[in-house]
Amino acid sequence: MNAPGHRRVRSREIVAQGIGVSPGVAVGPAMVIAPEEEAVIERRLAAKDVPAEIARFEAALIETRRQLNRIQENVEQAVGRHDANIFDVHKMVLDDTAFLEQALRLIEGQHVNAEAAVHAASERYAAALAAVEDEYLRERVADVKDVSRRVVRNLAGGHGGLMGEWRQKCIIVARDLAPSETASLRKDMVLGFATDQGSKTSHTAIMARALGIPAVVGLGDITARVRPGERLLMDGTKGVVVIRPTQRRLRQSGKAQQARRDIQAGLLDPLRDLPAQTTDGHRIALFANVELVKEIPDIKQHGAEGIGLFRTEYLYISQPHLPTEDEQFEAYRRAASEMAPAPVVIRTLDLGGDKFSSSVPVPPEINPFLGFRAIRFCLAQPEIFKCQLRAILRASAYGRVHIMYPMISNVEEVKRANALLEECRADLRERQIPFDEALPIGAMIEIPSAALTADLMAPHVAFFSLGTNDLVQYTLAVDRVNDRVAHLYEPTHPAVLKLIRNTIVEGHRRGIHVAVCGQMAADPLMAPLLVGLGVDELSMGSSWIPAVKDVIRHISMKEAQDLAESALKAVSAQDVMRMCRGLTARKAPEIMELVG
Ligand code: PEP
Ligand code: MG
Repeated sequence: MNAPGHRRVRSREIVAQGIGVSPGVAVGPAMVIAPEEEAVIERRLAAKDVPAEIARFEAALIETRRQLNRIQENVEQAVGRHDANIFDVHKMVLDDTAFLEQALRLIEGQHVNAEAAVHAASERYAAALAAVEDEYLRERVADVKDVSRRVVRNLAGGHGGLMGEWRQKCIIVARDLAPSETASLRKDMVLGFATDQGSKTSHTAIMARALGIPAVVGLGDITARVRPGERLLMDGTKGVVVIRPTQRRLRQSGKAQQARRDIQAGLLDPLRDLPAQTTDGHRIALFANVELVKEIPDIKQHGAEGIGLFRTEYLYISQPHLPTEDEQFEAYRRAASEMAPAPVVIRTLDLGGDKFSSSVPVPPEINPFLGFRAIRFCLAQPEIFKCQLRAILRASAYGRVHIMYPMISNVEEVKRANALLEECRADLRERQIPFDEALPIGAMIEIPSAALTADLMAPHVAFFSLGTNDLVQYTLAVDRVNDRVAHLYEPTHPAVLKLIRNTIVEGHRRGIHVAVCGQMAADPLMAPLLVGLGVDELSMGSSWIPAVKDVIRHISMKEAQDLAESALKAVSAQDVMRMCRGLTARKAPEIMELVG
């Protein structure tokens, strides 16, 4: 992986090196989202459009109040009345006549669009508060800005906030994007995105891959270097962003892109219906990870044999309220029936870490990745958890559904989750609602304690799925979303390999299936190593399935096992990476163009 940095090439263009997290090349104008700010673009309205704009403004105020009420109720339930009081302050801002009248005057008198009017009124309001003596009032500046941002987002249709006023296809340049923001991007308007922060396994990167948007993260200070509207060339495979590219650079990039397209069309597409089988006949199941049900046609196109990881968080972060049981059921049912008879592994809610939802308030924590995340949250919020479990069980009547618990750190958590699941089963039986009585339950192995006690865990589940994104971060104490320590994030570290190996050996000793669903599975260099270590299934962002399949079809099980054996004896992650690169380069050289 190349370190982020900048190289000046000739006088005009600037080449910025970051981390490529979602493949593809894009050329287009930059939309720069300044840190702490969202892009609010001012427009002048025609006089005839003013009444409609006022109606839009009023509707956004009503929606904002509704959201604040709902969030306040959720916060009250989750953490108590005291912490929920902050929303009373937000509602007071929303009712403040001075603020509202100022915004209205700008719309009516100066024919400014509602977003810009709200933004300007809130800036003036905040400036006035900042100037007063009273400390309490000064502290309300942040609340005013918060409320204003929420109104602006609602004006843009609730979740189109970032894109609300943008009328041209663009490359988004931002410090970072929250997963909820990435989820709300209008795919038709976004050519790619480039961010100062982030890493390969941040959930924003995962979302970009799901949406098929090229992305480069960890670029350091790209937001400070690019001016709005400037032309960019970005390569999400190589992790490069070129600011003001020369014609020559554009031509070269076009040729490289064509070469990749040729590999895809000539070599990879014909593999779609062939098995991922080594030259000596050993089969590996290749499954897809999905974030959104709408990805299903795409994953089938790439030859996925099932869904090995359905990340359900996006149902929770893509809307301002908790998804109801029926809304969830509908999403899971669609996934189950559209994939049937192929299996669908639905992972229960994994909020926390770098994924938050306004509908599920969690008090801020100093170390969110080590905190109230995933199964810990669900076991503490049994009503939210059981609502999801019931929805998944009901969907199991429509296909081959599996349930998987994230972030398991001890056997007790599996037992407690299973006990809640049993309550849901009893409830559905009593109401004579059909579900699959034999639905398999699995545990994600992504915490070292779980990998080391795989022998104790195995009797309680039907399968393991190694979440290497988290396993690497927790084993090496390297925050998976912090680009400053990205060079220490080494999936091939001997400690990680030993944990993977132990999980597979102990799982197989007890006859259970072992999958890998972290980013390692999607890497055509590392997939042979995982095969050699003995995994049964690799589940990945589906665009990688053809390349991984191609590599597997060019190696024997013996070669993969030899690689794994040497890797387990190696001293450093770099040595292992060299061995992996060597095998793929020898056996499937055509793939090297695709691996950055
Ligand atoms: C993982 O940790 O490897 C994983 C697949 O889960 P997520 O990336 O959603 O944390
Ligand atoms: Mg994980």
